[in-house]
Amino acid sequence: MPAKPKLGQHLLMDHQAAERIAAALGDVPGRTVVEIGPGRGAITGELAARAGHVLAIELDSEFAGGLRQRFPAERVAILEQDVLRFDFAAAQARAGMKLRVAGNLPYYITSPILLKLAASHAALDLAVLMVQREVADRVIANPGSRDYGLLSVAVQVHGPVEPLFTLPPSAFSPPPQVHSTVFRWRFAPRFAELGIADPAGFLRFARWAFAHKRKTLANNLRAAGWAPHAVTTALARADIHPQARAEALPLETLARLWSGFESAVRAENPQLIGAEEGEPS
Ligand code: SAM
Repeated sequence: MPAKPKLGQHLLMDHQAAERIAAALGDVPGRTVVEIGPGRGAITGELAARAGHVLAIELDSEFAGGLRQRFPAERVAILEQDVLRFDFAAAQARAGMKLRVAGNLPYYITSPILLKLAASHAALDLAVLMVQREVADRVIANPGSRDYGLLSVAVQVHGPVEPLFTLPPSAFSPPPQVHSTVFRWRFAPRFAELGIADPAGFLRFARWAFAHKRKTLANNLRAAGWAPHAVTTALARADIHPQARAEALPLETLARLWSGFESAVRAENPQLIGAEEGEPS
């Protein structure tokens, strides 16, 4: 059965790497592990040997059929569906504990999957994920680095990330054009600690702040429709230089800016916040 490039099918041929991914999930004998995109089962076999139960979500019906023949249903449930539609909260409720997640992700939807996991954070404990190396660089980047941006903020505000190892294209069949990096993400949302009362509002704000890499933070916020005087006041209150770029700001500073901004704007001009799901007028 030839791989379907449109579905991001680059199958892992490195058995040791599959073992390392499963081992990086930690102690899982009593746990339910969700695997995203099991393919032909390179990682699934390792998970099935370690975890109490595996939920393997595969969009490709041919792969799903092959996996059903290979694994006993009581240990590995093959769910033939789009992971972007998977209900992690319901699966967590059925499992009776938070889920661990593993996967060599289909690269064409890596960011949507990471954002889906972020949105499902309450159901999750830990994830070990393989992504294109450049995406991993963005996920784990620190403020001030070239790779730091919206994806770094959106992931890191939901818990710490650490790179584990990188594989060359030759570890896959067919080989992709890029290297791949495995990273671990521990879900421990930082919203309360950062004083963020409205996580969705904060993430929307971050999207505006990082909208154009070459623009200053102030210009990005003005371009998003925020009143110029509100932008100037909020930057000054948060002790941020008027010419600063969002890429330079640690999460703590971005969160402080958002909180001050939100309350200042709400006090002066309540209709700027809340209308059309918080879009500025
Ligand atoms: N885990 C296997 C391995 O490492 O050999 C396969 C990894 S391959 C990079 C990505 C897998 O995700 C493929 O099996 C592909 O069919 C599956 N996939 C693609 N889009 C998907 C989606 N929206 N939902 C679930 N699985 C998907």
